[in-house]
Amino acid sequence: MICTMKAAILAVGSELLGTERLDTNSLALAALLERFGVDLIVKSVIGDDEQAIADELTARLQQADLVLLTGGLGPTEDDRTRAATARALGRGLQVDEAWVEHIRKLFASFGRVMPEVNRRQAEVIDGAEMLENRRGSAPGQKLEHEGRHIFLFPGVPREMKGMMVDHLEPFLAAQSKSESAVERRTLKVACLPESEVEQRIKEVYTTYGRDAIAVLASPGDIRVQGSAKGTAEQRAEILDPMMADLRRAIGPAVYGEGEQQLEEVVGELLQAASMRVVTAESCTGGLIAERLTRTPGSSAWLEGGFVTYSYGLKTLLLGVKTETLETWGAVSEQVVVDMARGALSRCRSELAIAVSGIAGPGGATDEKPVGTVHFALAGPGEHEVEHRQVIFPGDREQVRRMTSQMALDMIRRKLLDLGAELSAGSAEETSP
Ligand code: ATP
Ligand code: MG
Repeated sequence: MICTMKAAILAVGSELLGTERLDTNSLALAALLERFGVDLIVKSVIGDDEQAIADELTARLQQADLVLLTGGLGPTEDDRTRAATARALGRGLQVDEAWVEHIRKLFASFGRVMPEVNRRQAEVIDGAEMLENRRGSAPGQKLEHEGRHIFLFPGVPREMKGMMVDHLEPFLAAQSKSESAVERRTLKVACLPESEVEQRIKEVYTTYGRDAIAVLASPGDIRVQGSAKGTAEQRAEILDPMMADLRRAIGPAVYGEGEQQLEEVVGELLQAASMRVVTAESCTGGLIAERLTRTPGSSAWLEGGFVTYSYGLKTLLLGVKTETLETWGAVSEQVVVDMARGALSRCRSELAIAVSGIAGPGGATDEKPVGTVHFALAGPGEHEVEHRQVIFPGDREQVRRMTSQMALDMIRRKLLDLGAELSAGSAEETSP
């Protein structure tokens, strides 16, 4: 949540202009800005060139209230961000001996002697506040200039993200307390088309106004965002009922809130149910298992995964009969059900999810167009198997992504049903 602040991100580093390195720092920063409702208006990538950085910063300060720079705070000659910022603002740059000592001690704590070049990392722009870096030697800096806020962060992604949480998040949280603050809250929705979501929330639009609600879609994953302006109480007065109405209107396709990811929610549900899952994957090549391992502690609910791309491996690892494969083809109900059953019977887990599909662009037949995917969820119990067939639109990446999304959502729905059954069962027991 927050204010109608405008922000710009400047990613500094000549390597980011080449083909080898992606500017991922700005994605992490953008996610945080979005969470606080800050309007990100420009992202730029600039090489390690002092004048170019200074020019870019000068231009962005005309448009944005908040400018975030990453990279170029290292100790070497090509690290120009401090000097460029000082130049753009017409300020001086001095070595701060107290910070030199701080950096020296950091090196000593790793049993190393600080190289003299690292003194440069203690160069403070006049008027700046130094920002501690708990994961590396380059401190950040924070400045105010003609009502604008500027943050300098290091380029190493792990350090940048840590400092973002340590220093930028509290700053944004403080800004969000002002009376003109705009708060945004998000519901996450799995596996519904955008048009279907729009249809379901039509009445909520009527109640709260079209501008108060935004539907942001990406393949298989939709965010429904409600926003309100005012003091914290005023915002809550609008948003509490609005989000409840949205949730009710969309129904069980809502899997989470805010930044929650589907794989994270599935992990939590599995853990709450004391269940484990195993995957048997063909067209996703392990993506479902990979997503489930993104959450720390995933060994509690993930047994692992079989990546069985060929007929041979489907037979060898999962016991799918050659005859079944030859009769029905790998992308079929019969095969995917046997994959799920085979995975379940070979592991100590309660659930097995299997997928087999045609991700494209080749491989289609008349009956099986590109995007055809079969799903089977086996368990709990030997005999229980749920099958689905879907035809996804889009390119290879999109089909694979949506397949993993739907597979995870099938697990989620299954666990919700099991939970509902359990609580209905216990309610019956206790009723007179
Ligand atoms: P620092 O300020 O932490 O010293 P730097 O830019 O001076 O950063 P580099 O050696 O240029 O240090 O970068 C450190 C590492 O971080 C490199 O692997 C670089 O590719 C990576 N990196 C820098 N900027 C970004 C970015 N915007 N997104 C992702 N990786 C980045
Ligand atoms: Mg760099």
